[in-house]
Amino acid sequence: MIPFQFERPGSLQEAGRQLQADGTMPLGGGTTLLDLMKLNVLKPSRLSFVKPLLDDSVSVKESTLVVGAGCTMSQLADDDSVKDSFPAIRQSLILAASPQIRNMATLGGNLLQRTRCTYFRHPDMPLNPEGDAELKLDTSGVETSMMAVLGNEGRLVGVYPGDFAVTFVAFAGQLSLSGPEGDRTIDARSFYRVPNQNEFQYSTELKRGEIITSIQLPVSKTLRNSLYLKVRERSSYAFALASASVGIELDGSGSSATIRSANVGLGGLGSIPWHSPEAEAALIDRPATDKTFEQAADAALADANPPQGTEYKVTLAKRTLVRALKILRDHGPLNDQELWAMQHGRGVQ
Ligand SMILES: Cc1cc2nc3c(=O)[nH]c(=O)nc-3n(C[C@H](O)[C@H](O)[C@H](O)COP(=O)(O)OP(=O)(O)OC[C@H]3O[C@@H](n4cnc5c(N)ncnc54)[C@H](O)[C@@H]3O)c2cc1C
Repeated sequence: MIPFQFERPGSLQEAGRQLQADGTMPLGGGTTLLDLMKLNVLKPSRLSFVKPLLDDSVSVKESTLVVGAGCTMSQLADDDSVKDSFPAIRQSLILAASPQIRNMATLGGNLLQRTRCTYFRHPDMPLNPEGDAELKLDTSGVETSMMAVLGNEGRLVGVYPGDFAVTFVAFAGQLSLSGPEGDRTIDARSFYRVPNQNEFQYSTELKRGEIITSIQLPVSKTLRNSLYLKVRERSSYAFALASASVGIELDGSGSSATIRSANVGLGGLGSIPWHSPEAEAALIDRPATDKTFEQAADAALADANPPQGTEYKVTLAKRTLVRALKILRDHGPLNDQELWAMQHGRGVQ
């Protein structure tokens, strides 16, 4: 780890000014940034500790959930309104990382976590920021579980690894940003940019000096009837190989119901947290049958471009999405015990 300067700005304005200087990065809970600095993958010369300046409250105002960017993952997951009414939000937080990490990590930092792909997270590997991004990996024998199959144009690019951001884009969240040019809001679905030809992972619309100050999520019927289903190599403390954040509003019950509205996001698959308007269109105003769900999954993955070795992720993604939709139709939202049982390979009773 290289030496760095640690700043405690007294206001967001001061932080914004510090962040305009080359080599300065904002520090939230530090669970990603300090990690990557210790690995010598990120090398900021100065950190501006913004966490103490950020609001950490959670409230529901006029049908919108508003969360300060300084709120930790644990605080949001354990908030009463989230626990009682917004299952996919809670589930995409409690199925992530570990309790210790969730107690430290802020929502602002959570949305900006970097890919966990090995070829980014090692200083000797060619695809970290110091490396030659043009260098193409030989796909034979390469570890590909953290490589994207959506938003990659067939190239080897790192997958966006986070869970909560998948729910955030699926349910049309917004971010409030504060920077030297003033405050603004941006849709989560336009915030993330897929990597260009010279990039190994996503970038964002965040401008130099801008800080995420809060996030908002509309409270919809689909968010109340939602589920986050995560498939990983082991049943705890692992990143998603595939995940689905889904919500459906049903008119009727069982497979004779009609789907009135739907939200679909996919994780562990895209170079960015993946929203699927294609799957939503294949669900809305259709009967809630297994066939409709399978068609939605086909639509969601129609543009998948899996590099060699990642083909299995396409099948896994389809099955994950269909399973999540079936659980919501047949059972409705899951409580923590039911979620736990399902994530450990037991059926939902
Ligand atoms: C062992 C381990 C396992 C994990 N498993 C999972 C998992 O299964 N699922 C999952 O989703 N996540 C997982 N994570 C990632 C974890 O969720 C993130 O590390 C955490 O959410 C980042 O939040 P932070 O506040 O610590 O961010 P930081 O590390 O402080 O910052 C992360 C990035 O965001 C920037 N930043 C921070 N705050 C702001 C702000 N307000 N405005 C603008 N930029 C900002 C920083 O400059 C940095 O670039 C895991 C992490 C670890 C270490």
